[in-house]
Amino acid sequence: QSAKPGGDTIFGKIIRREIPADLLHEDDQCIAFNDISPQAPVHFLVVPKKPIVKLSDAEDSDEQLLGHLLIVARKVAKAKGLQNGYRVTINDGPDGGQAVYHIHVHVMGGRQMDWPPG
Ligand code: 5GP
Repeated sequence: QSAKPGGDTIFGKIIRREIPADLLHEDDQCIAFNDISPQAPVHFLVVPKKPIVKLSDAEDSDEQLLGHLLIVARKVAKAKGLQNGYRVTINDGPDGGQAVYHIHVHVMGGRQMDWPPG
């Protein structure tokens, strides 16, 4: 992990307000903001302030924090009016299609999702 609070990725810069984001939620453990390249009518990310690199690097002691991200995902999805369901995704590592190496939860909704994803 990096010495910078929030980490050295683009998401660390958003957490530290060094670059702007369309913030939807913030608390002591995480932030949520709209994805800059939305893949659905609603597409936001929930990002812990702790710069865990990826899910496969999370520790047993991160259990509460990881659960918190899902509870925030649920609350923001409700606030966004996603009454008919939504998709929650974590991309892990190269095969998972992860691009930003600071763990984050995608929430996408407002259209019918396909399964399996590409
Ligand atoms: P990943 O592939 O790592 O799971 O997804 C990274 C996500 O971060 C992508 O959906 C991408 O559009 C989003 N993203 C990348 N850079 C920025 C940024 O500067 N601002 C915002 N709001 N989203 C970003």
